[in-house]
Amino acid sequence: MPELPEVETTRRGIAPHVEGREITEVIVRQPRLRVPVPDDLVDRLIGARIGTLDRRAKYLLVPLEGEKGSLLWHLGMSGSLRVARVGELPKKHDHVDLVLDDGAVLRYHDPRRFGFVDWLAGDVEHDPRLARLGPEPLSEAFDGARLFELSRRRRMAVKPFLMDNAVVVGVGNIYAAEALFLAGIDPRRAAGRISRERYDRLAAAVREVLAAAITQGGTTLRDFVSGTGEPGYFAQRLNVYGRDGEPCRRCGAELRLVTLGQRASVFCGECQT
Ligand SMILES: [Zn+2]
Repeated sequence: MPELPEVETTRRGIAPHVEGREITEVIVRQPRLRVPVPDDLVDRLIGARIGTLDRRAKYLLVPLEGEKGSLLWHLGMSGSLRVARVGELPKKHDHVDLVLDDGAVLRYHDPRRFGFVDWLAGDVEHDPRLARLGPEPLSEAFDGARLFELSRRRRMAVKPFLMDNAVVVGVGNIYAAEALFLAGIDPRRAAGRISRERYDRLAAAVREVLAAAITQGGTTLRDFVSGTGEPGYFAQRLNVYGRDGEPCRRCGAELRLVTLGQRASVFCGECQT
């Protein structure tokens, strides 16, 4: 599933190919995405020029110059965007094309169709889908103080707390598990019973794992352009995620699996307390 680093890498990968370009044609092969493609979207897009791409949480924002609003693109469970060329035949599950004035085609692929592209009118921060989101994990608004203050008197386990979009956006299951390992915190520990000092370490660990994933994603940027198929999601060297039963890379103990907030959580019972 595309997580924040994949969406950010997508933004960086497609931006140089689409920003400032005029949309000359829109092809919707499959409008029934998680949110149906709006009927009036094609008319709105044709002749419009694409502004500077942005991202909020896992939403990609594609503003149109001279309009108060943006395309709001979500990649869902299996979506990807890449840049093809006019004349390049679509593959199965290539649902939406934005054809640009230089012959490039921004092409949306989504086998499971949990993603969507919708029109967001007006100010981005007032859209109900975005208004209640917490800060970006790589921004200054996210730190140990925030985690500490929001967690007081909360009994929920720290891992689902960290994955709550109102606390901080974009910390999915993989990155929560990896950050808790780096910070040495047991994912089952009650959020309200973790010290400020440990939350400082956890916030730093969240930044570290996400920044590393984005950096690694940068090495795959060429995959966003024609020919190579879908951009792969990053196969990082993971310490705990997906490694239950395997030895801890730090101490050699067997990694354990628990379920927290309906999500599988792997951790080291020796290194994480
Ligand atoms: Zn260990």
